[in-house]
Amino acid sequence: MKNLMKVALLVFAFVTLSFISAEKKEINVVIDAGHGGHDLGATHEDVLEKSIVAEVTKKIQSMNTDADIKIHITRTDDNYLTLQEKTDFINKIKPDLVISLHTNSNKNTTTKGIETFYSEKSTTALQSQELATKLSEEFTKNIPLKNRGVKKAPFWILTKSDVPAVIVEMGFISNKSDKDYLTNEDGQTKIAKTILDFIIGLKH
Ligand SMILES: [Zn+2]
Repeated sequence: MKNLMKVALLVFAFVTLSFISAEKKEINVVIDAGHGGHDLGATHEDVLEKSIVAEVTKKIQSMNTDADIKIHITRTDDNYLTLQEKTDFINKIKPDLVISLHTNSNKNTTTKGIETFYSEKSTTALQSQELATKLSEEFTKNIPLKNRGVKKAPFWILTKSDVPAVIVEMGFISNKSDKDYLTNEDGQTKIAKTILDFIIGLKH
């Protein structure tokens, strides 16, 4: 009889778990366009980081036709939010993932490529590292820019978000080939599509 109870409990637990995992279809993601307003981010000649990241963010949102994927964005316009306001927004929504978009700049104009960051100091460091690694692999497959790989840094968004979070430095606007790709409609669309496809992949 005792054994029968154990079996019944196991079956119950299994059915409950499969039900929960089958139900969990909706994926919530916060896309954070870095900087905004008076905070231009990196600048190079007439190229502004805040504008590039806003364009890619808009594309991710507008290309999404999957009803199970909810894209939340920290800024809809060229407005400024403090980092605290951004993480307050994120921690209220409690998304499955945060992707914060940036572009890099360097005095050395030959420095180029994409970098994907996570924080070791995050409460979700392991998950964030795993997601950063997967996303970085998608960049290698789909984006013709150099991939500088996954890096660790205790950036505010990464450390203060209660959920997995990654920062993508999409390239160096101080480098001509990166800048040409990042300011080009087609390049921005390819980056946005790679990120959106990666998010859709999280459903499985
Ligand atoms: Zn930035």
